[in-house]
Amino acid sequence: MKNVLRFIFSGLQIVFVLLSSCSNTGNSESGLQDSIMEFYTLDDFPAVAKIDAHLHIQNYADTVFVNQAARDNFRFLNLNVFKSGGKPIEEQQKFSRELVDSFPGRNAWVTTFSLDNFNKAGWQEEVIAYIKKSVSNGAVGVKVWKNIGFFLKDENGQLVMIDHPRFDPILDYLAKNHIPLIGHLGEHKNSWLPLEKMTVNGNRDYARAHPEEHMYLHPERPYYEEYIGARDRMLEKHPSLVFIGAHLGSLEWSVDELAKRLDKFPNMSVDMAERISHLQYQTLTAWQKVHDFFIKYQDRIIYGTDLRSSAMDIVNKGIKDPEGIKKHAHEVWLRHWKFFTTDQKMRVPKVEGEFKGLKLPRKVIDKIYRTNAEGLFPVFVK
Ligand SMILES: [Zn+2]
Repeated sequence: MKNVLRFIFSGLQIVFVLLSSCSNTGNSESGLQDSIMEFYTLDDFPAVAKIDAHLHIQNYADTVFVNQAARDNFRFLNLNVFKSGGKPIEEQQKFSRELVDSFPGRNAWVTTFSLDNFNKAGWQEEVIAYIKKSVSNGAVGVKVWKNIGFFLKDENGQLVMIDHPRFDPILDYLAKNHIPLIGHLGEHKNSWLPLEKMTVNGNRDYARAHPEEHMYLHPERPYYEEYIGARDRMLEKHPSLVFIGAHLGSLEWSVDELAKRLDKFPNMSVDMAERISHLQYQTLTAWQKVHDFFIKYQDRIIYGTDLRSSAMDIVNKGIKDPEGIKKHAHEVWLRHWKFFTTDQKMRVPKVEGEFKGLKLPRKVIDKIYRTNAEGLFPVFVK
């Protein structure tokens, strides 16, 4: 019986293929129209509504990014970050709210929380109260940064990772209230390598500028795999938590490794912020694999850049004037668009060698550039 059904089915498939090829030859113009409709071009860049889901705008000077984003048809997500001794998170919150009020409909913001009292009684309640207040002020998610695992220590002087039980009530609170967590946890794998062995120039520049974070220089610190393991264990403990792994979930070096996590954790997505060069690097030797990864996981990937005025490429180029910053942002956004939408040969500052764009179908581009972010952060739905 099964075989008969299979025979009928394959017969129907042949009829369908014949019919569709007839209609194509019969009407080549509409066939051509379909193939044009299937992909965007470089020229479509300004016309397509897009979201950059990973930006850091912390002061009024940085609103140049906002102006350029509007010109390039980007809305964006502005992420607060907690660093001990950094800009106080209350100030970041206040500024983020003002930015939303000043540019209504153009941006949304994500809060974070302080780790300063991690070892004191009442820290969890303090954090949950802060998150509640942030959400009532319009925050659409919470961000944690790599200082968890890099610098945070417990009362015994041991490094604390994200799977530490003290985070659990906070993560439970987020899961229960459907508040997404964006996690920059661990670091790109290149950080554990000497400069000359790193795969992309951006990581080399960052390691030179931040030797305290260059893991290769600190062999007493945990291995790369320990960070990935801690993040994975945290996700195992909190399966209903909506989690966005910033920077390709620190698995930027291998689409295969990333695919394993996306398969294992259905509520995990990733943003591509400041790691697109790693995807480009992988296309040098495995273009098809990277392309197919995007097709298969098209619902789980969101576009982001990590643009900010303190970004390494801006600092290295010595760009300070607003026009220069705008031009830089435009070039970055347009270069990524070219990589994802066309199959043109490309060279970029962060990668040695020539590679070809991924030419992803229009419907995939719309997902990674807009609708996936809208799904995670409904505030963006118009
Ligand atoms: Zn960032």
